[in-house]
Amino acid sequence: MVDAGISTKQILNRMKLRNLNPSKLKAIFISHEHSDHISGARVLEKRLNIPVFMTTRTWYGAYKNQRPNHPRFFTPGDKIMIGEFKIHTFLKNHDATEPCSFRIEYQKKSIGVFTDIGNPCKNVTYHLKKCHGLFLEANYDEKMLWEGRYPWYLKKRVASDVGHLSNKQAFDLLTTHGGKNLKCVFLSHISKENNSPEIAIQSMRELTSKFDIRITSRYEAGEVYQF
Ligand SMILES: [Zn+2]
Ligand SMILES: [Zn+2]
Repeated sequence: MVDAGISTKQILNRMKLRNLNPSKLKAIFISHEHSDHISGARVLEKRLNIPVFMTTRTWYGAYKNQRPNHPRFFTPGDKIMIGEFKIHTFLKNHDATEPCSFRIEYQKKSIGVFTDIGNPCKNVTYHLKKCHGLFLEANYDEKMLWEGRYPWYLKKRVASDVGHLSNKQAFDLLTTHGGKNLKCVFLSHISKENNSPEIAIQSMRELTSKFDIRITSRYEAGEVYQF
């Protein structure tokens, strides 16, 4: 599992709805210490008795009451084996202490989980090229952000090089670096305030002949997709 930013109850409910067995979950990887990525990890760690992987700085950066009790530390760049899955860890640009993303490789196929990226760095483009499936941030529509209700400092933070990827940035990234193997893209981390699923999908319309582009919801379990 990559990140656990909702309650354990919600996570287990949503897995059940998709007939996913929690006992098959072997590890959790935390990308960074913002609550929407870590708040459920501590309880889930205890409930399922599974390791939570994160960097030391991420652990220290987290609120004390959200820190897992028995963290397994990695250094960005490490490759970690969980059964037959190889987890590639790498640094990205985001305003957290040591923000990471992950590419999960299994039988020569890779799924990337790339969210919370201010500006795509070489690590992001390198790993994106190797992906067959991708969870890619499409956080905000530029017009909605700048004309929206967020206070000025927050608008600047979201749009900065250490904030989030806009629909346009996600589109450009896919256009330039989406490899020939890439089949399916799940648009992720869609802002409640500055975007909508319809607008995010619409912004990718020129790419729908090339990739199967889908949406993930913040409110409910996504579909189970098989490669
Ligand atoms: Zn974040
Ligand atoms: Zn986030």
